[in-house]
Amino acid sequence: MLKIFKMVSDYIDANVYVVKNEEDYLIIDSGVDLNIIKNIVGENKVVGVLLTHGHYDHSRFCVEYAKEFNCKIYANKNVTGTLFDKEAIYSPNGELVQDLSRFIFIEGDTKLKLGNFEIDCFYCPGHCKCCQCYLIEGNLFAGDVLFDRGMGRIDLKTSNKEEMLNSLAKLEKIKFNTLYSGHGDESDFNEQQRNIYICKRFLKR
Ligand SMILES: [Zn+2]
Repeated sequence: MLKIFKMVSDYIDANVYVVKNEEDYLIIDSGVDLNIIKNIVGENKVVGVLLTHGHYDHSRFCVEYAKEFNCKIYANKNVTGTLFDKEAIYSPNGELVQDLSRFIFIEGDTKLKLGNFEIDCFYCPGHCKCCQCYLIEGNLFAGDVLFDRGMGRIDLKTSNKEEMLNSLAKLEKIKFNTLYSGHGDESDFNEQQRNIYICKRFLKR
């Protein structure tokens, strides 16, 4: 049985999720101070840090986490473009991530097995080129692709409207119980069927 802890960053209210499965922990995104994560994880094992995408509000402490917990960071292969680009990270004071030695890059739709976790990874560009969604035991972690109401912005560097439409169509077919977004509140499958329909209609105007 998974236990999911949610934390909200003081920088653009980005969500960070710590997921517990028996003794193993998994961290999704990295916008909150390391100490907050350490308080939850304690001395337990962290099997990895997953990034939903490279925007600064989601990626800013990922290397710190990986060093502290001696684990890898998993992110879409296009993430380097965002991490290295001061403009794309969308933060005036954001420091660029330069140490890539901790990263493992994933490509397209794939599966990961990390400790006790079995993770279905879905490549969902549109908000940016490196958006990756993760399905873990019926919980869909969608980053900035989908929110409880609405979807991520598509007016940023490497945003693409057509890709967003395709990504929404992909997510629409995934069976999940709860959606955990990069910002804001959780929602459920039925709410998202309606939400995705509205978002797609908006994009097709
Ligand atoms: Zn974003």
